[in-house]
Amino acid sequence: MNTIQWTVDKNELKSSSYPHIQQAASLLQQDEVVAFPTETVYGLGANAYSDKAVTKIFQAKGRPSDNPLIVHISNKKQLTELVDNIPAHAEKLMDKCWPGPLTIIFSKKNNVSQYVTAGLDTIAIRMPDHPVALALIEESGLPLAAPSANLSGKPSPTTAKHVVDDLDGKIAGIVDGGQTGVGLESTVVDCTTEIPIILRPGGITKEQLEQVVGEVAVDPALASENIELKPKSPGMKYTHYAPIAPLYMVEGDVDYLQHLVDKSRSEGKIVGVLSTEEHIARLSADVVLSVGTRTDLATVAVNLYEKLRQFNETNVDIIYSESFPAVGVGAAIMNRLNKAAGYKVLKSE
Ligand code: AMP
Ligand code: MG
Repeated sequence: MNTIQWTVDKNELKSSSYPHIQQAASLLQQDEVVAFPTETVYGLGANAYSDKAVTKIFQAKGRPSDNPLIVHISNKKQLTELVDNIPAHAEKLMDKCWPGPLTIIFSKKNNVSQYVTAGLDTIAIRMPDHPVALALIEESGLPLAAPSANLSGKPSPTTAKHVVDDLDGKIAGIVDGGQTGVGLESTVVDCTTEIPIILRPGGITKEQLEQVVGEVAVDPALASENIELKPKSPGMKYTHYAPIAPLYMVEGDVDYLQHLVDKSRSEGKIVGVLSTEEHIARLSADVVLSVGTRTDLATVAVNLYEKLRQFNETNVDIIYSESFPAVGVGAAIMNRLNKAAGYKVLKSE
């Protein structure tokens, strides 16, 4: 399949870039799949009402069929077509956080493709805060089922190039709107329960949600010590975001990290380190990449997937990563890194 690529300027969506949005929307109306930027990562969109279209998403990504998709909407009227009940706390969260990196789980009406919800009686919905995503949804007139536009298991794409690397020739089109903003996927919060439950940490922090609705719970299966518990969000059980070389999370100071590097090198291994601005100058390994600054974890979120992908362009045998405090956006960063590492952690004594 020939994958069409359009480069759009988000400031020109009503003028010079508009024909590109129209072409992409027209393909979506014909049940084709198209990748597009959101403020979190690139999504792979399809008509949420169509079995044929949604099946193409699972095929292109190699996504397990029991992992449901998030439906993206551009206005609240679309919501009433998809859900059968809007709880008060969901209403408050939508008012404060939409458009934005928050996905809300509702009990569903039975009209989207059965493949979107993977047999669940709930549906995940989000209004993305990106002019290109919103224009595409508006122009197509469809709610778009859209997971991240990567091959299943790989880091999510934060640039159109990442999408090309994974899906060129497998999808109808890619709308290139530049690098995404947040860099990590949306927070998924279940609002079908009395107290909302975070099923996946993401771009909106627990602290932010609590400011809007008071008490918020976290799915206990997300704590790294509970890896035997079954997560409420089916997707959270899969290994994800993993670079090709085995990744180890390191808890300890720079000297301990350097000691691990030296030991692996003495065994003949080519060693990579995922470091930060604060520590990079003090580390010596075969490939040392800085993911951002420890004083502003949002920079780490923005760069994380790009850096994990960069290791795949090197010949490292093993990667050691610094750890981050799991508060604020750090909770989402550590969730993704622990999953990428398969929960392998090395701690200094
Ligand atoms: P992705 O689209 O790749 O960002 O992944 C979407 C995430 O939302 C996955 O972890 C899914 O399992 C989760 N998800 C989607 N729909 C539901 C639902 N109805 N209930 C719980 N989790 C869901
Ligand atoms: Mg994904």
